[in-house]
Amino acid sequence: MRKREFIKQSLQFLTLSYLNKAWSSTAIQQTQHADVIIIGAGIAGLSAAKILKKNGLSVIVVEARERLGGRIWTNNALGLPLDLGASWIHGINNNPIKALADQFQIKTISTNYNASQIYRANGNPLTDSEDRLLYKNYDAIYRLLMSVRRKRKLQNLPDISWQQALEQVVNSKQLNDEALAELFFALNTEVEHEYAADLNKLSLFNWDVETSFRGSDHLFPNGYYQIIDGLIKNSGLVAGILTSQVVQTVDYSRTRSVEVTTNQAVFEASAVIVTLPLGVLKANSVEFFPSLPKTKQQAIARLGMGILNKTYLSFPEYFWQQDARTQIINSISAVKGRWAEWLNYYYYTRQPLLLGFNAGHQGLTIEGMSNREIIDDAMLVLSRIYGDNIPSPTAQITTRWGSDPFALGSYSYIATGASVSDYQELAKAVEQRLFFAGEATSVDHPATVHGAFLSGVREANKVLVALGKVS
Ligand SMILES: Cc1cc2nc3c(=O)[nH]c(=O)nc-3n(C[C@H](O)[C@H](O)[C@H](O)COP(=O)(O)OP(=O)(O)OC[C@H]3O[C@@H](n4cnc5c(N)ncnc54)[C@H](O)[C@@H]3O)c2cc1C
Repeated sequence: MRKREFIKQSLQFLTLSYLNKAWSSTAIQQTQHADVIIIGAGIAGLSAAKILKKNGLSVIVVEARERLGGRIWTNNALGLPLDLGASWIHGINNNPIKALADQFQIKTISTNYNASQIYRANGNPLTDSEDRLLYKNYDAIYRLLMSVRRKRKLQNLPDISWQQALEQVVNSKQLNDEALAELFFALNTEVEHEYAADLNKLSLFNWDVETSFRGSDHLFPNGYYQIIDGLIKNSGLVAGILTSQVVQTVDYSRTRSVEVTTNQAVFEASAVIVTLPLGVLKANSVEFFPSLPKTKQQAIARLGMGILNKTYLSFPEYFWQQDARTQIINSISAVKGRWAEWLNYYYYTRQPLLLGFNAGHQGLTIEGMSNREIIDDAMLVLSRIYGDNIPSPTAQITTRWGSDPFALGSYSYIATGASVSDYQELAKAVEQRLFFAGEATSVDHPATVHGAFLSGVREANKVLVALGKVS
């Protein structure tokens, strides 16, 4: 089989044959008992499991996929470890994920967002002064947007979307087409990519409630999964994690126990920690008996689940950026937001790889395209920048997080009309038996790995109190 054909075929099986294939559980007939059941073996579930185990409780983690890590997914299909979910530790100072990386001696590399080059839709590069002007103009609009926000809050007016505020601001400015394209490019890469949502979905009032750790962002040249691996090995969790267990119902109607039914077995515990992604909670694909409290259901409905998709293109040779220290390649694309941001993966791995991002509705559009269409679309942008003679990619991987049944989106955002109290509501325990962790329960750090990790710690400590292990 020719290499290209082989790669194409192997990618069709990508969703079935995961790199991090874990401990496949055999069908279990009888009800399994543990002190605590954790639903989901992402970073939130595993951080909770580690603490509970350390405190002497018996724990079973039930995970729907064959692999562990959830939205941390390092894949080897292109011959080296590539992250299809989270890439970065956002802000390394005092960040618990950086502490784990150090503890497990995992190599990280910082990303310098200023080592970037922006190209116009016709492929011409922006000069340094044009680049500075673009961001100066963006900053000016941003300040106006924030003043619209301040005024609306002072006047007790309701929340509106970023887009609605932007229209007020832009209409008063009379920007020409080029200035508008530059503004939309900056808004897309600075805001829509970060929050995985279109401007017409994001709350003007509350989009940016999170707090950040200081310091630079670091990524893992050998894959984020090393953190998951380290956590599991370090805490002796292996035996307690069951994969291919798709939770279908959670029955917390009895006073002393909760029953979790999967496609394979029934589990019973004194407490359950639910780490289902917001997208899964929104879809109601897991049934709760009795139904979750109305206030929690409303919070689930109000918060948004965003989409950010990644495409890795592998080339026969490195041909882009003369200065290989360039880390970010940007394109002010003809279609707003399409292939606006690329990461020069050569910088991190010395392999001829580019990583393209599409967010919000562009991310969704990508999901409806075939792999061939995605390559052709991406190559249109790249050939405008680097010329028609550039080589075709030999292989590619594209994520489709929005259609992934066990994520149904990439990460949460505060949609228009929602607020930080919705994250708080999501984090509330029900009846001191049902606990909720995961990135969308993190008030300070939603949408991040560290937020999810800390939410697991938070809920494990609550469970220890509820089960009388600590006061
Ligand atoms: C493309 C992308 C890029 C990102 N980039 C970054 C980044 O650079 N830095 C950063 O900090 N964060 C990033 N994030 C966000 C980060 O990955 C998440 O916030 C974090 O991994 C979420 O962890 P979690 O444990 O809350 O959820 P998950 O990791 O989703 O864990 C939940 C688990 O529940 C399982 N599950 C779902 N349904 C069922 C069911 N019915 N039964 C049993 N199990 C079920 C899932 O399979 C999953 O394993 C990114 C996410 C994506 C998708």
